[in-house]
Amino acid sequence: MNRRAFVRTSASVALGGAAAWPKLLARHPADRTRLILLGTGGGPRPRTNRTASSQVIVVNNAAYVVDCGDGVARQLAAAGIPLTTLRHIFITHHHSDHNADYGTLIQLAWAVGLETRLDTWGPPPLDKITRLFLEMSAYDIRIRIADEGYPPLAPLVHTHELTHGGTVMTDDAVKVTAALVHHPIVEPAFAYRFDCPDRSIVISGDTAFSDSLIQLASGADVLVHEAMYLPGVDRLAARVPNHPGLRQHLLASHTSAEDAGRVAQAAGVKLLVLSHLVPADDPTITDEMWSAAARVHFRGPVIVGRDLLEV
Ligand SMILES: [Zn+2]
Ligand SMILES: [Zn+2]
Repeated sequence: MNRRAFVRTSASVALGGAAAWPKLLARHPADRTRLILLGTGGGPRPRTNRTASSQVIVVNNAAYVVDCGDGVARQLAAAGIPLTTLRHIFITHHHSDHNADYGTLIQLAWAVGLETRLDTWGPPPLDKITRLFLEMSAYDIRIRIADEGYPPLAPLVHTHELTHGGTVMTDDAVKVTAALVHHPIVEPAFAYRFDCPDRSIVISGDTAFSDSLIQLASGADVLVHEAMYLPGVDRLAARVPNHPGLRQHLLASHTSAEDAGRVAQAAGVKLLVLSHLVPADDPTITDEMWSAAARVHFRGPVIVGRDLLEV
């Protein structure tokens, strides 16, 4: 186990407000566990202001990516995380706003020089998705091997299908634990907890209010929780007339910002980060409105996520 110095997240820092975070974090030691929000918008709709769901945790120069929404490889590049440091991919569930660029991330990491083992974790049919993506991309892979001397890609990729909660993996720096969450009708859907040398980080994935997530997140330093702003949901549903089940799906399968605060309070987390925001692009909903909703039940600090924010 890595014995690096323990760097505690300071609540007083978080209370300084979201705008203060990036500069303050720049003064942390270089070997601190990093969490970068790559995409913070909920749902598959491409937007100019937020990309689809993804985040990366970096420990000891190894990147652990959670979810692969549209544009994840480009967001990693924008965050300054070399794709060759990719070691693990975790998929929370197989909605396309979480997995659309899963295969693309693997292919592009290899294309820019990944030569080391890559483990991927997530619900079925992860094996089939991986296999079919490699098959779909076989032409590019084959000609790059023949023409440019790349190593074969398939032997680098090791998939692990998860069907229940519990310990997912451990290495010399990180322990990852999964919990089943409630995201009907997608089953199974997971939240992941990362216990790193200097702090613990929980990623909710997509979930309705979930007791299992409260247990998973108990005492965590950071909880990244999906969130809806309920008054905006009706406006969003009205903008999408050809999707009559949208409002019902959102209310049954996701969590309001108020309930995200309730989960954070019940779990006793030290910092709540709202992400996977729904609506993601309603200009009438300000950061203060998001955080005020979460603070109805959560007495700790709240950050409203934005793309490429380091927490
Ligand atoms: Zn989603
Ligand atoms: Zn989903």
